[in-house]
Amino acid sequence: MIADNKVVSMHFTLKNQNGEVLETTEGDAAFDYLHGAMEILPPLEKELNGKNVGDKLSVTIPAQDAYGSYNEEMVETLPKSDFAEMGAPIEVGMEIEMQVDEDIFPVLITKIEGEEVTIDMNHPLAGMDLTFDVEITAIREATAEELDHGHAHHGSCDH
Ligand code: ZN
Repeated sequence: MIADNKVVSMHFTLKNQNGEVLETTEGDAAFDYLHGAMEILPPLEKELNGKNVGDKLSVTIPAQDAYGSYNEEMVETLPKSDFAEMGAPIEVGMEIEMQVDEDIFPVLITKIEGEEVTIDMNHPLAGMDLTFDVEITAIREATAEELDHGHAHHGSCDH
């Protein structure tokens, strides 16, 4: 049964409120995570608690409990010269890392017009109600190393 300090393997398909598939493990290896370590969204972890191998569930998480609502103030226009140090030409749809104050976070380039570049600092899943269709395929005890690292290992650990 799923409980804290277990490593859970599951297949999942993630969809937004329009039914578009955002991510799926179908045709791929199952996804492993360490339960109780905040590796997955807390509302999903809560629903998985106490479940068993073979259980299937569908969990819908409203945007505000997932990656937050979409914030227009997180969209900014910057001069193209700010991107000169990147070493590669910028394009619409490119995800880059930018330093904002002390923090580095990923931003998406959404528009380039003349010398103006529009960036979006919202999380790519912001503003989306997320539905996870999950099937639990395995549950095992975490190793001491996994508990120490706070995440599940997939085969060998390289850190
Ligand atoms: Zn590790």
